[in-house]
Amino acid sequence: MISVFSNREDCYGCSACQHICPQSAIGMNPDEEGFLYPNINEDLCVDCGRCTEICPVTHKGNYKKNDMPRFYVARHKSQEVLWQSTSGGAFTAISDVILRQNGVIYGADYDEDFHVLHQRAETPEKRDRMRISKYVQSDMGDTYIQIKADLQEGRMVLFTGTPCQAAGLRGFMGTSPLMDHLFICDLICHSIPSPLIWEEYKQLLERENGGKLVSVQFRSKKDGWSRANSNKGFLFTTDKSPEIQEDDRFYQLFFKVGAITRPSCSQCPFTDIHRVSDLTIADYWGIEKYSPEWFDPLGVSVIIVNSPKGADLFDQCQQELHSEERPKEESLNEQKRLREPSQIPENRSLFWENYRRSGFGYVIGKKNKKHEEDEALCFGRAD
Ligand SMILES: Cc1cc2nc3c(=O)[nH]c(=O)nc-3n(C[C@H](O)[C@H](O)[C@H](O)COP(=O)(O)OP(=O)(O)OC[C@H]3O[C@@H](n4cnc5c(N)ncnc54)[C@H](O)[C@@H]3O)c2cc1C
Repeated sequence: MISVFSNREDCYGCSACQHICPQSAIGMNPDEEGFLYPNINEDLCVDCGRCTEICPVTHKGNYKKNDMPRFYVARHKSQEVLWQSTSGGAFTAISDVILRQNGVIYGADYDEDFHVLHQRAETPEKRDRMRISKYVQSDMGDTYIQIKADLQEGRMVLFTGTPCQAAGLRGFMGTSPLMDHLFICDLICHSIPSPLIWEEYKQLLERENGGKLVSVQFRSKKDGWSRANSNKGFLFTTDKSPEIQEDDRFYQLFFKVGAITRPSCSQCPFTDIHRVSDLTIADYWGIEKYSPEWFDPLGVSVIIVNSPKGADLFDQCQQELHSEERPKEESLNEQKRLREPSQIPENRSLFWENYRRSGFGYVIGKKNKKHEEDEALCFGRAD
């Protein structure tokens, strides 16, 4: 029987295989780190090979475009939008173009328990919930199927997500003429953390602060937008606590320790300027050096235009955006994920062994301890 992947590093969990399967023989199940992987039901599988044919790992070229991308600095004209966005509000400007044409937006949202999952929005209110980066791999559910159904009904669709999810969508859609009305916008993506560790972290915050989480924001702009502040803006409230700003321990595990990201991120083929999407958005890190007049403490975006369709969509955003073309070297210098994948620490397995043996409280480290100590602790070297 066919197998969709051989090593865990070879599966991004995009779920395209699940939805392309004509026999509905593939389910997505979490592994012991909480990441979803395809699981084939042998009784249903007819070995047709569609799953591996369209998989972004095995597909030659990974669906990346060959066009030469163009780089823009951009900032939303509305202060309110900037305040409510991670970077310079590029996502809101781009999605507004689609909403104005009665289109549909897909992006990452929370459910009532703050699980991260892809959702569908037809209104600005529902779209607004997709704002702000959620540093957890989102569950795609049946997003690809819903997108196809919307396109078949003649709706214009904007999909936003990580590059691997964008590649999964391209694999699922193939060369369908429906693609003409599908716009894909991906993020420059550092790597993607485990939903299981996020679950543990939420429970820890509830235990430490009492009550149930009622709001969460990974990247608030309370102290302004800057690279230095990007790991200090984690805000949350419970129904028994006021707003709390954490010197985010989850963020430390993600960015500094790097032990909680999906294994496939270390081999990510999408960490270059040839993208799978029509547009790519991210923080314009370093803009204060290259062109200080563009710096805004409320956030600045880089928008990479990857295709003629992307260029057309970007043109239509101009009533909402201030923007200017910039040399690609600026983003190449500042964005490591346009050059290489994230490194998985050598002792990653030690982190997970410690987690299984001693629990989450042990690996996350003690509150208010120095991060170096947290790091040592989570790898089991501090005691
Ligand atoms: C896991 C992750 C890693 C990132 N790594 C980098 C990086 O290395 N460098 C960099 O400059 N920028 C990175 N970003 C992108 C950046 O944080 C902003 O999301 C981006 O600049 C958009 O900001 P905005 O102001 O235009 O939009 P916002 O209004 O903040 O919109 C957020 C957008 O991100 C999408 N999104 C949020 N969470 C997820 C998720 N978990 N999975 C898929 N899509 C999601 C939403 O669907 C929406 O389209 C990352 C984002 C994520 C989620």
